[in-house]
Order: sequence, then C-alpha cells, then structure tokens
Amino acid sequence: MSRIFKISGVILVGLTLLGGLLYRSASVQDMMMQTGVAVMLNSGPEAFDGLQVVVCGSASPLGNNPDRAQACLAVVTPEHFFLVDVGARSPMRIAQAQLPMNRLTGVMLTHFHSDHIAGLADVNLASWVAGRRASMRVYGPSGVETVVAGFNQAYRLDRGYRTAHHGEALLPPSAGPMVAKTFQPGLVWQDDTMTVTSFLVDHHPIDPAVGYRFDYRGRSVVISGDTNTSDNLFAAAAGADIVFHDALARDSLDIMQNAMLESGRTTFAQIIADVTDYHADTRTLEEAATAAGIEQLVLYHLVPTPMNSLTETMFLRGLSDKTLLAHDLQVFELPPESDEVIIR
Ligand SMILES: [Zn+2]
Ligand SMILES: [Zn+2]
Repeated sequence: MSRIFKISGVILVGLTLLGGLLYRSASVQDMMMQTGVAVMLNSGPEAFDGLQVVVCGSASPLGNNPDRAQACLAVVTPEHFFLVDVGARSPMRIAQAQLPMNRLTGVMLTHFHSDHIAGLADVNLASWVAGRRASMRVYGPSGVETVVAGFNQAYRLDRGYRTAHHGEALLPPSAGPMVAKTFQPGLVWQDDTMTVTSFLVDHHPIDPAVGYRFDYRGRSVVISGDTNTSDNLFAAAAGADIVFHDALARDSLDIMQNAMLESGRTTFAQIIADVTDYHADTRTLEEAATAAGIEQLVLYHLVPTPMNSLTETMFLRGLSDKTLLAHDLQVFELPPESDEVIIR
C-alpha cells in the first residue's frame, strides 16, 4: 500500500513540475491566450427577443466591495440599448457583460450625484471606439446640460489625441462630444415598440431627481434611481413587471454609524446619519410596494453596500422571499406579451 502512495506521490510531483514548466513556456502561454481571447469574443450575451435588464452596478458609495460597481442598469432589446446611470466601475461591468456599445441608444441619468455619473466619459469612449457614428445622447432632468458640458470640456484634449492617432475615418470628431437631452418629467423617448417615461422621485434636497419606466411589447420595468419611498414612483409603476429600487438597510447602517462614533470618526458618522432620510428603508419599502400592487421588487443601489453573504442576508432581514437583492452582471429577461421573468 505504501508503495502505491510513494508512486502516486512521485507522479503528482512530476506532473506539478511539468505543469509549472509548461506554464512558463512562451508558446504554451500564447496558445492559452489565443484560446482565451477566442472564448471571450464568442461569449457575448445571447440574442434575446424581448426586454432585458442587465445589472451593471448595484452598489452605493457607502462601502467598497469590488464585486459591486456603483449604480448602473442596462435596458436592452433587439432594437434598443439604454444605460440608466453610470456610476464608478460600471464601465468595467458593461465591458464584462459585452453589451452592444456600438448601438448604444443613450444614457439616461436619474440625477447628478457622483455615484451616478462618474462613468460617463469611459462609456462615451467605449461606444465611440466600438463604432458609434453620432454623438452619444445623455438624457436627464434640468442640470444634465451642465454635467455633459463639464465632461466634454474635461475630455476635449483626450478626444483630440484619439482622433489624431487613429484617424477621422475611425473616430469621427463629430461623434466624440456627448449631447445633453434635457427633459421635463413625462415622455422621454418613444418609437414603435419602446416608450420611456420619467417621473419625479423624493431624493430631497436633490431636486430634480427622476426615475424611469420602460414599456416594450407588453412588458415594463421601472428604475427608481435614488429616492425615499415615493407615492409618485408607485403610481408610475402601476402594472409594471419589475421595479428596481434603491434600498437602505437600517440595521447594518446603525452598526456602521456606531463603529464610526466609537472610533472617533464623527464626520463620517454624521454622513451615515444624513443618508437615512433620502433612500428607501427596506423596513417600509417592501410594505409600500406590496400595497401598491408591485409584482416584483429588486433592490439595487444598496446602502450600505453588502460586503459578503452575511451582510447580504442582513440586508434582506424582515423581507419576504420574493424581494430580490440584485447582483452585478445578473440578467432579467422578459419575453414579449407574457408574464414570465427569467433570471440569469
Ligand atoms: Zn443620489
Ligand atoms: Zn446614489
């Protein structure tokens, strides 16, 4: 028996050494990378004939979890591709999800807190180099023109470098700067199959702040942006299939605040106390959503951002099994003219 163990041990050590040598071989490295790139290029999202929502960011600014980017949801159909908010790290998630940047219809901003706009320049560049031939449209309530003008100014030199290097045919200068599309709450965008409407939410003192509703071939999703529990949102969400809503877990937040106070970080403790009045507390959100007849509630823009499965469980404390906690790169698929929701 011990002889078998010895032989097995020798074989194992030999294979480990051989594997180590192969791993350092340039030709083996090249072959592995070629295979990896081919797999990556062929592993884009499967074409889906319906309404898809891809979570490109589920975090809030409170907490740093590298597995969660800041607020971003992609709404994708065969004919449309909208991004709702583009917080920090969301461009990385958009790239990982291999979303069709060459056909980006537009970015829709809910308001102009940094955790909703920080990725704008990277999204603009990513869609420009993917082949977009007209300026990227950035929709938002009053104030979006200031945000877009600022980004355009800050990245003016960068755009010049890109075109000088790659040529005007590849990167047409006219498509480089973003274009602001300011709207009043109400109808934002419409064609034969898609209607996008916006409505005011309660993110006081941030005003205006809006949410969006997307209606496509008998299916509908609502995206809250940042808001306290809002009657206006629930009225706009009547009959919607899914409501993606920001959420605040008070128990977790209180623990953070106490820890900050005990360690003498009074400024940060006060900031934590301040955020409680302009996000939706999970303890009242689900009840209000149920009373409003919301079929499916999905929590994103999580305050504080859960760091692990324990804090995710704490976030869902007191909620029904039906309410879901969004994860980055999760995909919700709604086939047309049906009640089905496929979650991947
Ligand atoms: Zn906000
Ligand atoms: Zn926010």
